[in-house]
Amino acid sequence: MTGIIDSFGRNITYLRISVTDRCNLRCIYCMPPEGVPQISHSEVLSYEEIGTAVQAAGQLGINKVRLTGGEPLIRADLPKLVGMLSQIEGIDELSLTTNGTLLKKYAPDLKQAGLSRVNVSLDTFKADKFRDITHFGELKDVLEGIDAAKEAGFHPVKINMVVMRGINDDEILDFARMTYEGGWHIRFIELMPFKGVAEFTPSSELRQHINSLGELQSSTSLTGNGPATYYSLAGAKGTIGFISPLTEPTFCSRCNRMRLTPDGKLRPCLLGEDEIDLRSPLRNNVPMDRLKRLILQAVASKPEHHPLIGDNFRLVNRKMSQIGG
Ligand code: SAM
Repeated sequence: MTGIIDSFGRNITYLRISVTDRCNLRCIYCMPPEGVPQISHSEVLSYEEIGTAVQAAGQLGINKVRLTGGEPLIRADLPKLVGMLSQIEGIDELSLTTNGTLLKKYAPDLKQAGLSRVNVSLDTFKADKFRDITHFGELKDVLEGIDAAKEAGFHPVKINMVVMRGINDDEILDFARMTYEGGWHIRFIELMPFKGVAEFTPSSELRQHINSLGELQSSTSLTGNGPATYYSLAGAKGTIGFISPLTEPTFCSRCNRMRLTPDGKLRPCLLGEDEIDLRSPLRNNVPMDRLKRLILQAVASKPEHHPLIGDNFRLVNRKMSQIGG
């Protein structure tokens, strides 16, 4: 069996790497319009340092890597990093989460460099609302980016929509319908609390709403490495996934991932406070065994569940862009 077994019996096979904290959008649930203090370039891991960290993770049995951010495609020459990581022994799948605005430009190079999959974040089909949600973005760029990814041969392209009550929940059925018309694979994400932007909508409520289009059937056609549970509508080529950090009791017990921040901190939990520094050891060229021990130490400190569940409920005080969403 691949992976590292943590203290709660979970098999950790997946590393999510935030390659930059910078973003060309300011989605209201993620980053304030003025941005956040940026990590200086010298503090950010180089591609070589990321490569060494992934090598160590690969030797421990982590076999899937996802690149995220910030917006990963604004980091210079991301296909170069993809090319490097795709050569690393043990890494079977290398994927990307992007806002899609630059995909049209980079999709062919990413494919050629060895990227396996792409997820695109898209919260509305309305150009005005898109601007309201993202502050700077153009819907057209994202839609063209999705097409470009499909043309480049990425399959499936999954679309992530963060559902905000009173903001974009009126478009749930439009997104669900795209699983018929465009064969799209849509994932609805429960909004994690961020400075009272909007209320989240429980996935169970979304499922009920979508049932008005036809009965949702549990689906296993799409293999996912993440926390989504998948369904489909009869006759639809695409699937509908639900990512429910706030209401799905097994969300954390199924968690298989670790996260690496742009400045080289390994985080066992998206919303936890713990992190282990890999940057200094990487810059001090420590032996691979030492790096592997640090990764194992971080896995051993992975909490049973994130702090939004249970008695310690509190608002997210860090920006998703700094952790990698
Ligand atoms: N810039 C890339 C993108 O837009 O996909 C990657 C980084 S973004 C932080 C990764 C994912 O986190 C996106 O799908 C985004 O919608 C999601 N996300 C960010 N803030 C969130 C929040 N407060 N609740 C739920 N999802 C969130």
